Amino acid sequence: MTIISDNLQQVRGRIRAACEAAGRRADAVQLLAVSKTMAADAVQAAFEAGQTAFGENYIQEAVGKIQALRTLPITWHCVGPVQSNKTRLVAEHFDWIHTLDRLKIAERLSEQRPAGLPPLQVLIQVNVDGGANKSGLPPHDALALAQAVSQLPRLQLRGLMCIPEPAANSIANYAALTGTCALFDRLKSLAGDFAAESVNFDTLSMGMTADLEAAIACGSTMVRVGTAIFGGRPAKAY
Ligand SMILES: *Cc1c(COP(=O)(O)O)cnc(C)c1O
Repeated sequence: MTIISDNLQQVRGRIRAACEAAGRRADAVQLLAVSKTMAADAVQAAFEAGQTAFGENYIQEAVGKIQALRTLPITWHCVGPVQSNKTRLVAEHFDWIHTLDRLKIAERLSEQRPAGLPPLQVLIQVNVDGGANKSGLPPHDALALAQAVSQLPRLQLRGLMCIPEPAANSIANYAALTGTCALFDRLKSLAGDFAAESVNFDTLSMGMTADLEAAIACGSTMVRVGTAIFGGRPAKAY
């Protein structure tokens, strides 16, 4: 498991260098370790190397790990698509969701969030490049959903998330990233007019192993990194 700790060091170095190159503070960007398909002991190894925020895609798989590691002060982020029949598990077990793109799911999450837990932290997923088979809502619908989410008592709106299509070239990738950042800035400037208490619009989740430098240059505040920390995943559906 020392490999995981070495990998984490390297990823932190990449983030630091990218922040420096972009003239941003080193603490302007948080690292989310995406541990989908990895066993609980891999998560624990990363935790012992100082990583406390983890992202999971597959709800059922995640809940097993969350329960196995419940004594550790880990923040769990749901970064996978959530169907209606999984909202209760997300509301009960996660701290954040990055993939909200429908009001109906938001309403269910708010209703099902247990009273003893803090509000669920929410990012709205936008489909910035119109990728056909992707979740996320069109950018022009993001404001309406953001306003609606800010009215829901058990959710706290925190920002946006995107997963750009694997781009044909770095210019296309850059366009998707800067487009999302522009939308983030616009919503942030409007968010003050929403129900103030439930909004803290400070998080732009974008950038993965392959494009974290570009994402940081374009304004990301949270990069979601799997492969560079945990190594490759099985090729199947993942
Ligand atoms: C798997 C996944 C990641 C991590 O991707 P890597 O390329 O392995 O860093 C980030 N975000 C989401 C939504 C993912 O599903």
